[in-house]
Amino acid sequence: MNKTILSKSGAIQPGSVIGIIGGGQLGRMTALAAAELGYRVHVFTPEQNSPTEQVSAHVTHGAYDDQDAIETFGRSVDVVTFEFENVPAQTVRHLADLAPVRPSWECLAICQDRVREKTFCNELGIETAPWKAVSSVEDLKAAIAEIGAPSILKTTQLGYDGKGQVRIHADTDPANAWQDLGGGSAILEGFVDFKLEISVITARRKGGAMASFDVVENRHKDGILDKTIAPANIPADLAAKATAIGQKMAQAMNLVGLLAVEMFVTQDGYGKAHLLVNEMAPRPHNSGHWTQDGCKTSQFEQFVRAVADLPLGTTERHSDTVMLNLLGSHAELWHQQLSDPENKLHLYGKAEPRQGRKMGHINRLYPKGSQPKG
Ligand code: AMP
Repeated sequence: MNKTILSKSGAIQPGSVIGIIGGGQLGRMTALAAAELGYRVHVFTPEQNSPTEQVSAHVTHGAYDDQDAIETFGRSVDVVTFEFENVPAQTVRHLADLAPVRPSWECLAICQDRVREKTFCNELGIETAPWKAVSSVEDLKAAIAEIGAPSILKTTQLGYDGKGQVRIHADTDPANAWQDLGGGSAILEGFVDFKLEISVITARRKGGAMASFDVVENRHKDGILDKTIAPANIPADLAAKATAIGQKMAQAMNLVGLLAVEMFVTQDGYGKAHLLVNEMAPRPHNSGHWTQDGCKTSQFEQFVRAVADLPLGTTERHSDTVMLNLLGSHAELWHQQLSDPENKLHLYGKAEPRQGRKMGHINRLYPKGSQPKG
């Protein structure tokens, strides 16, 4: 057992073991940042040779719903966090008896289910696209009658990178759409004619201290993030509004760690900009990778600081940055990308470049204030 005494301040002391559930690139970059602050990482993942274990001190291979394996893991670490939120919330609930779990299972439960996520936003007075919960073809017909088309049918759980989504057009047969989705539990969401997509990442400590990174613009291709432009080219008052929404949500769920909130910017008939929350993630986020090279503190270091209850770092941006994801075989161009001295290359140690798979990213730096177009 490795249980370290907390310091007087309540911080998890350097030298302690941070348990990370999930073995992907987010865990890998968190583990690297943790190492810089003197921590060791123990990763729990079902995947052999995962990106995170390649840079971690310890690994446990197990299924996310293997309660015994998760509990043994919980006993061997000093604090538990996640790089992946689709772990059964009830499994995580029991972990809290064994080690501090940050963020809490309640936060995970909200973020892993679109119905809970949107209800949470709307109850806080935060706007989303119009939506209805759907669990049968009959529900879907009623929801289409209310919300109209175009709209998007999304699974309530386990959807990511545009997966688990079916577009509904005026001539779509609801029965076919329901079959295409695979049934189960879903929501129908009105299609948003957005001007751009933005996101904001907020770190929050146990005592409530918060710090947000600059608001960024995200451009997607086929539902997958292609590019992040930092900062977003939007008016300062809109950026402040987006930041306030992110902070309100982090506070309302008493989150400890990071909260990434994705939003649509729409424009009404009078040209007034409007924000609608699309989704959120209680962990580091692809749209925050630019902070590794564009900010004094990266999102990964900030995540470790929040989880270990250390003072948060400054989120100041020292360079405007464009982050480009290297998906699938595009990663084979890494050498060419590396040859440009303004590019910073990050690869995740994944062997198979399957189509659409996130293999790495590039942060391209520009002087602060130069407003790169991307
Ligand atoms: P999601 O998995 O919900 O983040 O969706 C992935 C991407 O699909 C988003 O980043 C948008 O580009 C697009 N998208 C999702 N929901 C909507 C919507 N209601 N209206 C328009 N585009 C959407």
